[in-house]
Amino acid sequence: MSFNLFKSKDISTFVVFSLLVILCVAWLFLAQIQLGVKIVFIGLFFILGFIYNAWNRANRTNSQFTQKVRLLTEKVFEVKRDSKKKFTLSKWTKFLTEFLDELIGLDCLLLFVRNKKEFKPVFGYNLSKSVYKRLHFEINDKLISQLKSGASLTGQAIFKIEFKGYDDLGKDFEKLIDEVGFNLLFQIEDESEIFALALIKAKRTALLDFEKNLILWVSKKVAKEFEIKKLKEEIKSKKRKIESYLSLEKWRKESSERELKKKIFDLYALFQETENLYNSLDEERLFFILIETLQKHFDSEKIMILLPEKDTGDLFPRYSRDIELENTPSVSLNKKSQFYFWIQSKTEPFFLKDVEKKEGYLLAFLERKGFVLGSKLNLPDSRFGVVLLGIKRKNREYQGIDLSSFSILLNMASLSLRNIKQYKMIEELSYTDSMTGLYNYRYFYKRLNEEIFRAKRFERKLALVMFDIDQFKIYNDSFGHQAGDSLLKQLGNHLLKVVRSIDVVCRYGGEEFCVIMPETDSAECRKFMERLRKSIEAFPFKDEYLDHTHHITISLGSAIYPRDAKDSDRLIWCADMALLKAKSEGKNRAMIYMTEKMAVKHP
Ligand code: GH3
Ligand code: MG
Ligand code: MG
Repeated sequence: MSFNLFKSKDISTFVVFSLLVILCVAWLFLAQIQLGVKIVFIGLFFILGFIYNAWNRANRTNSQFTQKVRLLTEKVFEVKRDSKKKFTLSKWTKFLTEFLDELIGLDCLLLFVRNKKEFKPVFGYNLSKSVYKRLHFEINDKLISQLKSGASLTGQAIFKIEFKGYDDLGKDFEKLIDEVGFNLLFQIEDESEIFALALIKAKRTALLDFEKNLILWVSKKVAKEFEIKKLKEEIKSKKRKIESYLSLEKWRKESSERELKKKIFDLYALFQETENLYNSLDEERLFFILIETLQKHFDSEKIMILLPEKDTGDLFPRYSRDIELENTPSVSLNKKSQFYFWIQSKTEPFFLKDVEKKEGYLLAFLERKGFVLGSKLNLPDSRFGVVLLGIKRKNREYQGIDLSSFSILLNMASLSLRNIKQYKMIEELSYTDSMTGLYNYRYFYKRLNEEIFRAKRFERKLALVMFDIDQFKIYNDSFGHQAGDSLLKQLGNHLLKVVRSIDVVCRYGGEEFCVIMPETDSAECRKFMERLRKSIEAFPFKDEYLDHTHHITISLGSAIYPRDAKDSDRLIWCADMALLKAKSEGKNRAMIYMTEKMAVKHP
C-alpha cells in the first residue's frame, strides 16, 4: 500500500505518525492478545492511514489551489497597474486567454459583444474565423431571454451549457457547438442587461464563486474594451460627418477654415479625454476629471453633478464648479417628483427650457443660477445622477455637436464608474494596493496580528511605525492629482529600499503608510524613523508633467509591543496617537508613543 505521506512536506507529522504506528505494532506483537484481536487492530491502523492520507492530500491540493488563484488575482492587478501604459485590445485578449488557460484549462473561446440589437462574435481563440464570423444572435432570441430569466432566478452569471432547452439557436450555431464541444457559457452583464457572451471549451467546469468572479471581471474588461473601440469608431465617424458637412458649399462660405480646424481638433481632444476618463480607478478622481473635461471642452460657466444619496435615493449636488452651494437651502431632486421621472425617461441630453414638468424648487433654482443643459448620468446598479451645464462663456450657444460630445463623455464616465465598481470588488480579494504595489490594509491587519502572535510566542519586541505625508492636500491642489499619485508610487518604491528585508511596508490609507518591524525595540525604532524621515525629506520626487522635482516631508508615530499595547488594535491606536502628536507639534518629526505625554485629542 502506498501512503502519500512520503511526499508530505510536513515531515514532523509524518515522523510522529510513523513512530506511533511502530510502537503500536510492536505492542500488538509483544502483548499477549488473541490473533483475531491483533488482526482487527492492524485493520484499524490501515483505515486510519487511509483517512490520514486522504486528509493530507485534500489539504495540499486545497492550499496549492488557493495559491494559484491568489497568483492569478495578483496578475489581474499587474495588468490593471500597467493599464496606464496603454494596455491594448490585443494584449487584453491575450491576457484573457492565458488567464483562462491557467485557471480552467482553455481549449476554445468565442466572445460575442452586443452591438445595438445584435450579439456579434468579436474574438475567437483556437477557432478559425470563417467558422464563426457569420454567427450572431438577436437580442430578442430565445437564448438571451432564457439566460436573462435564468440569471435572475439563480443570481449567477455563469452557466454550464445545457443546450437542449434552447431550440431556436439556428443550425450553424448548433453545428459549431457540436463540433467544438463548448461546455461553459458566461453571460456578462451590465445593469442586469446582458452585453456580452463568452462560450468556452474548458478542461475544468466545476468552478468556485471566487473563480467565477475573477473570470467574469476579466471577460467583462475585455468585452468593455471592444465596446470602447466601438465608441471610438462612433467618434471618428462623427468627425467624418462634420468634415463632409462643413465642406458643403454653403458652409464654405459661412465658416472659416479656422473654425473647421477647431471643430476637428475638439473631436480629437474629446477622443483623448474619454481615454483619461476610462483609465481612472477612483470615483472621486473620475468626477474630478469629468468636471475638468466638461469645462475644458464646452467652456461652460458652471457645472454641477447631482448624485443619489445612499438611503433615500434622492439626488443631491455632490460635485460642482464655479457655483456656491453652501448658502443654498437644500437643493435636491426628490425621487418621487415628476422631474425625476422625466429625467429617468431621457436617453439624450436636454435643454432645461424644454423640461415638460415645470414643478419643484430645483428647476427654478437651476434656471435662476444660469444652468441651461442637462443629462442623465447612468450609474451602476440601475441608479442615475444628473450632470448640469451652465451657459457657455462669451455668449456662445450649445450646438448639436456639443450635445453628441456631452453624451459620449457621459457614456464613457458611466462605463468607467461600472469598471471602478467591478475593480473594487476584485480589489477586495487581493492583498496588494493597486497604486503603490505595496501591501494594503487588509494584509497589514492580518500580518500585524500574525507578527504579534509570533512576538508573544518568542517573547520578542515589535515596533509599529505609521506615517502620513505633510500637507498633501496642498501638494495635490498645487500640482494636480496625477502628480500626487505619481508621488505615492515613487514613495512606495523608495520605502521598499529603506526598510530591512524582515520589515513589512503597507499602504494604510490615502497617503498614510505603516511599517511593521519585527524584533525591534524603541531605540532601534527611533533610529529607523529618523533615517526614514530624513531620506524622504531629501528624496527628489519626479513630476513628469512639469518636468521638475519636488520635495515633501512626513510625520511619523510609533508604538512598541508589548510595552505600549498587547494587541493589534491598541498598538495601531498608540502609533496613531503618536502620529497625531507629531503633527500637532509642527510636523516633519517622529514621535514614539508615551502614555503620559500623549495629551492630544483622544477619540
Ligand atoms: P497633514 O499635514 O495634516 O497630513 O495635511 P494633509 O493635507 O496631508 O491632510 P490629510 O492627511 O488629512 O489629507 C490627505 C489628502 O491626501 C487628501 C487627499 O486629497 C489626498 N489623497 C489621499 N489619497 C490620495 C491618492 O490616492 N492620490 C492623491 N493624489 N491624493 C490622495
Ligand atoms: Mg492623512
Ligand atoms: Mg497628510
